[in-house]
Amino acid sequence: MTPGTAIQPDADATRSQVLVVDDDRLIRTLIREFLTREGYEVVTAENCREALEVLEEEKHEFKFLVTDWELPDGSGIDLIRHVRHVVSSHYMYIVMATSHGNRENLTQALNAGADDFLAKPIDRGELVARMRSGQRILALETRLTHLANSDLLTGLPTRRVFEDMVAKEWSRARRYRLPLSCVIFDIDYFKRINDVHGHASGDQVLREVGRVFADSVRKSDIICRYGGEEFCAVLPETSSSQACIWAENLRKRIAETEIILDSAVVNVTSSFGVAEAMAEMEELDDLVEIADQCLIEAKQKGRNQVVSFNKLQESINSDSTGHLDLVFGGAVSADAMTPVVSTVTPDSSVVEISQFFLNYRIPSAPVVDNDGNLVGIVSEKDLMSVACRPNPHEITIGEVMRKNLICYPPNIPLRVVWEFLNRVSIRTVLISENGKTLGVLSRQSILRWLANTTWKHNGIPGLEGDTANGSSKRLEVAAKLLSETSRQLTNDVEVRSEDEHAAMVIGTVSKMQDLMTDLLEAVRGGSDTCRGATALGAAFGATEL
Ligand code: GH3
Ligand code: MG
Ligand code: MG
Ligand code: MG
Repeated sequence: MTPGTAIQPDADATRSQVLVVDDDRLIRTLIREFLTREGYEVVTAENCREALEVLEEEKHEFKFLVTDWELPDGSGIDLIRHVRHVVSSHYMYIVMATSHGNRENLTQALNAGADDFLAKPIDRGELVARMRSGQRILALETRLTHLANSDLLTGLPTRRVFEDMVAKEWSRARRYRLPLSCVIFDIDYFKRINDVHGHASGDQVLREVGRVFADSVRKSDIICRYGGEEFCAVLPETSSSQACIWAENLRKRIAETEIILDSAVVNVTSSFGVAEAMAEMEELDDLVEIADQCLIEAKQKGRNQVVSFNKLQESINSDSTGHLDLVFGGAVSADAMTPVVSTVTPDSSVVEISQFFLNYRIPSAPVVDNDGNLVGIVSEKDLMSVACRPNPHEITIGEVMRKNLICYPPNIPLRVVWEFLNRVSIRTVLISENGKTLGVLSRQSILRWLANTTWKHNGIPGLEGDTANGSSKRLEVAAKLLSETSRQLTNDVEVRSEDEHAAMVIGTVSKMQDLMTDLLEAVRGGSDTCRGATALGAAFGATEL
């Protein structure tokens, strides 16, 4: 199947590639001669080994195999069995050339997977006729595959086929470090077309947009109808800026296309999201998700436009209104992160770590291998995803953790991380320096930071802190919780085995850290001199925890 275009029945099957396997040079030459004259592209091999080598070469896409029965290093039957065993994107029509024309042999060859026979000595007329019969079968097969793999309405590949095709391209891009971009687009106000002109007209619009889309891609691009009125393209060897230019052209072409409906002529616009694969992305889903976030942004910014992840990040960095600067001031990620005290190892079991999270109310933890290298992050969500499987005791953290870590340095503006967490579905990033994880910055830690600094100073109603009363209440609550937690720690030390001490102290201390942050913030007043973790660090030193 040809990626990037609607799959068409093979109109000119005579340009098909044929592999001819025979140890007799004269026969090879003869068949090559006959078939080349008919327009086929012929490759020859003189034994099984050579045939297998040729079949494995990526540049070939053989539609036919014409093989001899007896070969110096095996039999044509084995070769046929092998070919039928290997999963291929298309059907190969196999002709067995043989002088062993008895019924028993024919049955054996058919059972092995041959489609037809060719009597030796080779007769040109018979050869060409049998190849034509094969072409008819192949055309039918192509048509059936096309029907099964394409969306009925637009003729574009379905999402399932798309994902299969992208998987190959994805690993190639990874292996050779090639750029690869994803463009996702959605028709604007499409529901109105259905509402105003009827569902059949809506279908007509989808077909037209699909056609313009398919006409705009290269052969190597992989496209599909992704959902209702949403389309997706993966562009191999394409950077984000190249993908943006392509998307911008497609946007214009779609907007300019006049779509003739029964009752009217309409134009539709679409909004686009563009993202390039990044090193930390594990799979296609991660890339599509970022592109999708950009598409949402394009809709929010007024539709009929292209938004790329790169541009989105640039605009964050140059926040023209200055509003974000006001909120975040000079805060950096280290100010709001929760310092890492609890790490888990990849070989711990899911049940063990779930219990650990539950006991100490930890939502996520970095995963560190025995050499102290950071290898992943595990969250409640990851544990949830396997919690109901048959043997959760046997599932290790290594199997469920997320390996695509997003790391930021401790001195990066907090605003940048806030924007990032705002736009993607990832909940937590790691703050690291020189390969060492210093802390975890989650949506929750940023909210906590905002509650403790900006909101409090602005005296937002409902958040205590704007009156002396509120401040002392807050102090009281945090101090009480802190003393309860410390009492719990004392009790636990007595009842738990020594093996459990490390995990226990780590969990409890994490909670105490947060409480101490609250305490410090409650008494801090309007001063901006000490913030979050900085103050926390001082507190830790003083209490020798
Ligand atoms: P937006 O600009 O925010 O994307 O608005 P919208 O109206 O395009 O988006 P919304 O998601 O509200 O509506 C999409 C509509 O697409 C709803 C659904 O009925 C329609 N739709 C989905 N698949 C098909 C289809 O195969 N044929 C037709 N005619 N309509 C479809
Ligand atoms: Mg032979
Ligand atoms: Mg839409
Ligand atoms: Mg939609």
